[in-house]
Amino acid sequence: MSGNIVYIGIGSNLGNALENVTGAMDLLGKLPDTRLQKTSSLYRTAPVDADGDDYVNAVAMLSTTLAPEPLLEALWQIENAFGRKRPYRNAPRTLDLDMLLYNTDCISTERLTIPHPRLTERAFVLVPLAEIAPEIVIPKQEPLSILLERVKNQKIHRI
Ligand code: ADP
Ligand code: MG
Repeated sequence: MSGNIVYIGIGSNLGNALENVTGAMDLLGKLPDTRLQKTSSLYRTAPVDADGDDYVNAVAMLSTTLAPEPLLEALWQIENAFGRKRPYRNAPRTLDLDMLLYNTDCISTERLTIPHPRLTERAFVLVPLAEIAPEIVIPKQEPLSILLERVKNQKIHRI
């Protein structure tokens, strides 16, 4: 399917984090008008500005004809299917799905900021993204190699 190229950041640090992340990948591949094109390895990372157990993180590449807002709603449905609760900011979560990039679009609405605003600060996003999209250009940002260099002190290892 041709369509829009979208990268999704996946994270879990509550319940069976490994199963939650791989299960989320399965459901992403079953979204309407969407194909799961690539998935990164799974990574274990220490929480950043957050509490709880270590995270399992990954990034998925989709091609989809869904527009950004309907896709965001579909991501919420998948989070809810995994029992996502939001007791407080940055609380441990069974599943977090963040829309990192939607083509090279820049979007700023009440519900959606694309590229994801914290994408460039987080090794747990940049490292798996670089694995599946080494040539990616993030709108209005420096090259990926420079962004990666800046987060190299954050602990992350491939599972
Ligand atoms: P976190 O920032 O820890 O991921 P949530 O998953 O609870 O927290 O998301 C908070 C809000 O972020 C959501 O209500 C959503 O509308 C908003 N949001 C803004 N931009 C994005 C994006 N690119 N991807 C996902 N959610 C986004
Ligand atoms: Mg989120």
